Amino acid sequence: MYMFRLTWSLMEFVYTIAMKIPSHKPKIGVSACLLGENVRYDGGHFRDKWVSNHLAPHVDFHPVCPEMMMGLGSPREILRVIVDNDSGETSLIETKSKIDHTQSINEASKKILSSMPELDGFILARKSPSCGVITAKHYNSKTGYADGKGAGLFAAQVLDSNFNFPTIDSGLLFETEYKDLFVKQVYAHFELRKLVAKTSEIQRFHSEYKYLLMEHHPALVKELGKLASKSDDEEKQKQDYMKSFMETIKNHRPTKKKRVNVYQHLLGYFKKDLSAKEKENLLEKMEAYRQHKISYQTLLEVMDFLIDGHLDDRAKVYLKHQKLFKPYPEDLSPYKF
Ligand code: SF4
Repeated sequence: MYMFRLTWSLMEFVYTIAMKIPSHKPKIGVSACLLGENVRYDGGHFRDKWVSNHLAPHVDFHPVCPEMMMGLGSPREILRVIVDNDSGETSLIETKSKIDHTQSINEASKKILSSMPELDGFILARKSPSCGVITAKHYNSKTGYADGKGAGLFAAQVLDSNFNFPTIDSGLLFETEYKDLFVKQVYAHFELRKLVAKTSEIQRFHSEYKYLLMEHHPALVKELGKLASKSDDEEKQKQDYMKSFMETIKNHRPTKKKRVNVYQHLLGYFKKDLSAKEKENLLEKMEAYRQHKISYQTLLEVMDFLIDGHLDDRAKVYLKHQKLFKPYPEDLSPYKF
């Protein structure tokens, strides 16, 4: 059980200690209610089983509850995001008393974000007027009706801060593909954060992520390769590479077309090793994937099997190190549940 504390001084003390203890796990900011803390407006929680049971052993969580940090207790009155029709500005208003908490949540958000350690990702509770990333109901200031959805006020500040790490609405964790993408992004960010600022290390990282990157944006693989080449200022090189790498994998999602393209490249490694029958079989699998008859996971497993059985050692070591095949610990694979 994660003990949640309400005072700033204690929270800052905990984070100061956390920053000093070397950790070998990714650091994730998380809405405290998703971990089972009774901090919601109704006095309850919003425990997410995957976050609490499956992800928890692999990461260091940094729980926050912006509304508790603002000094509101639990239980408390329901809050709403009100969108001004003319300016488009959002406010956080109590439904009955109409008390405006906008300034308070904005100040609390700034304080939370500046006191946290360097994170590798953020998971925020769906539908909340503070934490929802894309699922907070937006109420029209003129009609009083909810006519849209978007970010809650804390989530908006996380997004506006332009962090390199990924931020996800817990509602998207129900979809396997989003969950897989999020965990990939978290682990890539974690590895980049730990990377020694040396050109040779950046090049090694780039080489290992080559085919995973190609699934996101084939043309940008070369651009990133240029950033990974020689530099006089290796610290700046690392920061520039990290920013561009994370933008690439966050802004460009893999598609079937891009994935088939990657497999055609990988097929090139097997030119001399496969019989005509084996090659035909692999091409059939790629076509089956294209036609939604087999999953992407099956295609990955077929390729992994071929690498084990057919390549000479040098090529095999290179391909086996490709993050495409193992971007994060196997236990975390959403395809297993
Ligand atoms: S959604 Fe956010 S503000 Fe609401 S209870 Fe959970 S952590 Fe607190």
